[in-house]
Amino acid sequence: MRDFEFLEPDSLPEACALLHGLGDRCRVIAGGSALVLALRQRILTPECLVSLGKLDALCNIEYDPAAGLRIGALVRHADIASSELVRRYSPMLADMAGRLANPQVRNQGTLGGNLCYADPATDPPGCLMALDARVHVSSVRGRREIPIDAFFVDYFTTALAADEIVTHICLPPLESNASGRYNRFLRTGAEHRPLVNVALIVQREKTVCVGARLVIGASTAIPMRAARAEALLIGTVLTMDLATEAAAAAARDAQPISDQRGDAEYRRSMIEVIARRTICEVFGLPSGGM
Ligand SMILES: Cc1cc2nc3c(=O)[nH]c(=O)nc-3n(C[C@H](O)[C@H](O)[C@H](O)COP(=O)(O)OP(=O)(O)OC[C@H]3O[C@@H](n4cnc5c(N)ncnc54)[C@H](O)[C@@H]3O)c2cc1C
Repeated sequence: MRDFEFLEPDSLPEACALLHGLGDRCRVIAGGSALVLALRQRILTPECLVSLGKLDALCNIEYDPAAGLRIGALVRHADIASSELVRRYSPMLADMAGRLANPQVRNQGTLGGNLCYADPATDPPGCLMALDARVHVSSVRGRREIPIDAFFVDYFTTALAADEIVTHICLPPLESNASGRYNRFLRTGAEHRPLVNVALIVQREKTVCVGARLVIGASTAIPMRAARAEALLIGTVLTMDLATEAAAAAARDAQPISDQRGDAEYRRSMIEVIARRTICEVFGLPSGGM
């Protein structure tokens, strides 16, 4: 690993000024779970690391009935899983965070770091897209918010400028008729990272589905809204045939990646299986054996 200077700003403005001034010579470090591996392998060789460790304001989870949940970028996956607020107001997110990776990663990795690294084989991005999250960022130029649908640009690439810091993630309050489900598929029980994941949030009026956000993640370069599948669900009383048709549409529209963990066609088959399972579970249809 190349030697580097470790800078620990006491405030967000100071951190933003450091990033702006140092440019390409520095990287932000949060929990370090992804970055330290990249430093060890010399995939990244910054001269300075700007730690966010002293920015306590980025560690909070808050809830406001009008604005919804606000989760600081430095909140760790384990904190999300155990937060009373997240469990109450976004149970799907708490469930996802509690199943991510393993206890070591959940206790070290932060939500902000997870999103900023933009590794496709991860859990929060798709889940947050189904929840219509917004990513809030700061820099010397001020603040801006990026809808999560626009945050991920490509494989390991986000819409962040090099000197921007993610400060928090906001989730609008869920409607009272909303329910959701997140499922992840691992190729083998020994693996931690998902090969495919599916997140679904629906709204129902009596038995009719009136809204749906279905997101395919981990198997594609960036998470993907399954628009044709959503259109098949909306305005219907769900049946097994419709669930099967919607899952097939999601798999057809996906553009899975191929790598050493699985080729695109295997991923596409698993997208169909996991999407159908997720739709069935949300609508209370039998999903056993799929
Ligand atoms: C063995 C292993 C298994 C894993 N399995 C899973 C899994 O199953 N599911 C899953 O979802 N993830 C998994 N991960 C990934 C893990 O979730 C991320 O590594 C972690 O969340 C990153 O957070 P961090 O705070 O450690 O980020 P860091 O390593 O500190 O930073 C990661 C990147 O984000 C940038 N960054 C960090 N915070 C900010 C910020 N606030 N603003 C701007 N840039 C920032 C850094 O500069 C760096 O480029 C796994 C990781 C490991 C090592």
